[in-house]
Amino acid sequence: MPRESKKEQRKRALRLVKTLFRTHPDAHCELHHRGPYQLLVATILSAQCTDKVVNTVTHELFRRFPSPARLAAADPQELEQLLRPTGFFRQKAKTLLASCDSIATEHGGQVPKTMEELTRLPGVGRKTANVVLGNAFGTPGIVVDTHVGRLARRMALSKQTDPVRVEQDLMDLVPEKDWTQFSHAMIFHGRRVCGARNPQCELCSLYTDCPFPHGSGPKTLKRSSTRSSRRRRS
Ligand code: SF4
Repeated sequence: MPRESKKEQRKRALRLVKTLFRTHPDAHCELHHRGPYQLLVATILSAQCTDKVVNTVTHELFRRFPSPARLAAADPQELEQLLRPTGFFRQKAKTLLASCDSIATEHGGQVPKTMEELTRLPGVGRKTANVVLGNAFGTPGIVVDTHVGRLARRMALSKQTDPVRVEQDLMDLVPEKDWTQFSHAMIFHGRRVCGARNPQCELCSLYTDCPFPHGSGPKTLKRSSTRSSRRRRS
């Protein structure tokens, strides 16, 4: 990719945002939840686990423990068994017990509404906090999960590997009002088009603004068809 000024990168980022929104107009949080408490719990459980599996587990979890105080008082072993399908279930059970206890005892049973307070809860980092802020409280936030990090680097919007630094780079390039929806659209795109091992560049609407070396993109297809037409002619 030719050297790009900050101004050019900003313009390109805006085009990428527009195209992403056009491509995934229905992008949304795929974790089933009602309210901040359920979203916080579901997001903690989604670490190293698909949203689909989390949704099957939370259905029963929220029926048995409908509030932070009830979950904080859960029997640890019973909780572990419920969480088992999500993987790392012992650690996740510990995190849920500790964070719900903190919400129940220090925040009057209400999930706090600021980044500072959320990230002080045990086991809650910026990614989880941004999911909650953006989707439960309407405070814009960029969620850097594995998809968003990978796509941001492929699209040359960030060179960083540390999620917090990727978040800073994206905050600088994407309008604040779009942060939450941008995160959803990036995650949708990462899951449906730009997979970790098989980016489908030839089908991708972002192709012209994405400098990733498109191994099997239209340009390559065109080149190979030229080669075969040469072969046909000779
Ligand atoms: S062009 Fe390829 S690498 Fe770039 S976003 Fe699309 S699928 Fe991903």
